[in-house]
Amino acid sequence: HSKKDGRNTYHFFRPSMNAITVKRLFIESHLQQALKENEIFLNFQPKVDIETGEVCCAEALVRWHEPSLGLVLPSEFVPVAQACGLIVPIGQWVLHETCRQLQAWRNEGIDIVPVAVNISTVELCNKKFLESIIEILEDTGLEAHFLELEFTESSLMHDAKASLTMLESLQQLGLALTIDDFGVGPLSISYLQRFPIDTVNVDQSFVHGMPHDADAITIMKSIIQLAKNLDLRATAKGIETREQYNLLRSQQCEGGQGFLFSPPLAVEDFRKLLVKDKTHRSIGFIAGNNQE
Ligand code: C2E
Ligand code: MG
Ligand code: MG
Repeated sequence: HSKKDGRNTYHFFRPSMNAITVKRLFIESHLQQALKENEIFLNFQPKVDIETGEVCCAEALVRWHEPSLGLVLPSEFVPVAQACGLIVPIGQWVLHETCRQLQAWRNEGIDIVPVAVNISTVELCNKKFLESIIEILEDTGLEAHFLELEFTESSLMHDAKASLTMLESLQQLGLALTIDDFGVGPLSISYLQRFPIDTVNVDQSFVHGMPHDADAITIMKSIIQLAKNLDLRATAKGIETREQYNLLRSQQCEGGQGFLFSPPLAVEDFRKLLVKDKTHRSIGFIAGNNQE
């Protein structure tokens, strides 16, 4: 079968192709237009200080509303965007929009928090990455310390020497630097010391293993201790239960993110959280998830 869509591209769907392949092809051919058509948008997921429950920062998460597919999550389109290079313009948009939005709120007098943006390998390796960060900060007027960048272990180890130089430049600009999904990638521990990073985001899988998996708890505790000894901040991701939270709190894990506190929020809902007085900004636990 062949089908012509409204964007002058032909796709050939063979009966042997399964639904996933067809969806991937569809995503690939429509992603090109997504930015121009204003179909890409952001969610912000708050992160909390485990000790106080106060919102300390957040993570920008990209979303795509495709007219016929509805909401497409990054797990479906970011790998496609990486493979075809579109992650560079999409990533630039995410960075610019995050900084623009934060500065707009700041100009309104809102007490903003630092927001983390996920950076993929292709972006990190892009020659113009550093330059583009400088330009975005200049263009939006946002102070660098409000922007945090999250890199995975594999993207940093892709070319460790180049990563070191890049991270040093980014640190000099004043950005906060984080290793995402820590504990499941190829990073050698010696680089934890050499890379000028501030935070390790412990991979969700260890939190999800808690409390029934003793090994997951041991690994979690060891990573938190390692981070403390190296003067890094440890953040646990994917916290869904009160039990996981209590365990992490008893280990003095500093930061937390997960559905227990808040799902990723629409821009307006995140704004509502920020306009609250700082002392009332502890978000507690979302309804229905409180297991105590
Ligand atoms: P990530 O950086 O690990 O982001 C956290 C993911 O975990 C988000 O999924 C978030 O919705 C989800 N999450 C948060 N709390 C919980 C929880 O308590 N339980 C569970 N099961 N999940 C939770 P999301 O938004 O679908 O993003 C998936 C991944 O896509 C991100 O993982 C990140 O690697 C990538 N991504 C998202 N936005 C961007 C972007 O702007 N650029 C790039 N390059 N990658 C992005
Ligand atoms: Mg992340
Ligand atoms: Mg730093």
